[in-house]
Amino acid sequence: SLAQLQQQPADALLALIKLHNADPRADKIDLGVGVYRTDTGATPVFACIKAAEAKLLAGQDSKAYLGPEGDMGFVHALMPYVFGAKDPTMGGRIDGMQTPGGTGAVRLALGLAKRAGYRRIWMGTPSWPNHAQIIADLGMELKSFVHASKTGFVDMDSLRFAVGQAEPGDAILLHGCCHNPSGIDYSDAQWDEIAPLLAAKGLLPILDLAYQGLGAGMDEDAYGVRRVLAEVPEALVAYSCDKNFGLYRDRVGAVYVMSASADQVGAALSNGHALARAAWSMPPDHGAAAVRLVLEDEALVKQWLAELDAMRDRMRQVRARLATAGMAGTIDLSPLGSQNGLFSIVPLTAEQIMAMREKHAVYMAGSGRINIAGLTMGNIDKFIAAVADVTAG
Ligand code: PMP
Repeated sequence: SLAQLQQQPADALLALIKLHNADPRADKIDLGVGVYRTDTGATPVFACIKAAEAKLLAGQDSKAYLGPEGDMGFVHALMPYVFGAKDPTMGGRIDGMQTPGGTGAVRLALGLAKRAGYRRIWMGTPSWPNHAQIIADLGMELKSFVHASKTGFVDMDSLRFAVGQAEPGDAILLHGCCHNPSGIDYSDAQWDEIAPLLAAKGLLPILDLAYQGLGAGMDEDAYGVRRVLAEVPEALVAYSCDKNFGLYRDRVGAVYVMSASADQVGAALSNGHALARAAWSMPPDHGAAAVRLVLEDEALVKQWLAELDAMRDRMRQVRARLATAGMAGTIDLSPLGSQNGLFSIVPLTAEQIMAMREKHAVYMAGSGRINIAGLTMGNIDKFIAAVADVTAG
């Protein structure tokens, strides 16, 4: 009976938003949920998206169904940015389909891997919590390794050991850039080592690219994905446009399949269509159509890239300020300077995170993750002082 369904815990980050909203202190700082914020705390609609939406409103003459693959103009327009302008299909071996956000893309990528006979997924932890939830929901086995050290650097030994332990026919899920929650990415040199390791072991790479352009730049952030795809016969890429086009609630994503030969990719993707039909039938159109209209218009592309540059520059400034602060009490903030994207982890204890909230009105996730974009030149000194205070003893 339905009465057997047990109450599930509320999402911890969403609960944190409620607590933050209810806090009357004027100088409270929200470092919880993962959306970009300007230095006035806003999460505005991109100007390029506003322009594309105006075009969409004026020009769209039907909302009739598309199909499980969604807006293929969108899916294809994105490919040069992800896979490189020189050969974005890798000789016809890559194609994709639209999904409801990056979450839908991860879900489909893992579902496709399962359909293809993969049962074990290797993944560095900590990771975006939904990765493990989706793997569990699909009944697949999660094998974890340590993504990064507590001191803020990639743990390559743990990855090497994991790949050594893995068996051909396993899959490995890696963040393409701007690792969530740690902000700790593989360097180009590390990708240069990882890509052939995966190929030699015969692992299926599942690459999650949810923050392209928020780290070091559009091309720079795609280095790992392109390096791995150049090395292996087959791979899956889950992509989100929700951060780099600011479309969060409109749920814009895509999943891409790279097959060993061009004649296999259609059959592989038809399984993606079947999975989508059985789950959501077809993805929401609006946001993807807006992204397509941006990508089809040279002036809007320029505007989009400039908006992304401004976001990235602001986050770099915040990181630079944290790095200059160096030691805050017992915590060394300097590694955050070279980390990437929206998130980093400040390795505070549960008690210290609670003190950050209760004593200083600084709201951060229980994992110690902070949203870098929640910091501004106006509140960052308060944040650094709070970390120093709660770790002082
Ligand atoms: N992958 C990672 C690593 C993420 O951090 C997120 C979002 N927080 C997603 C995928 C999914 O993004 P969305 O569904 O919002 O597009």
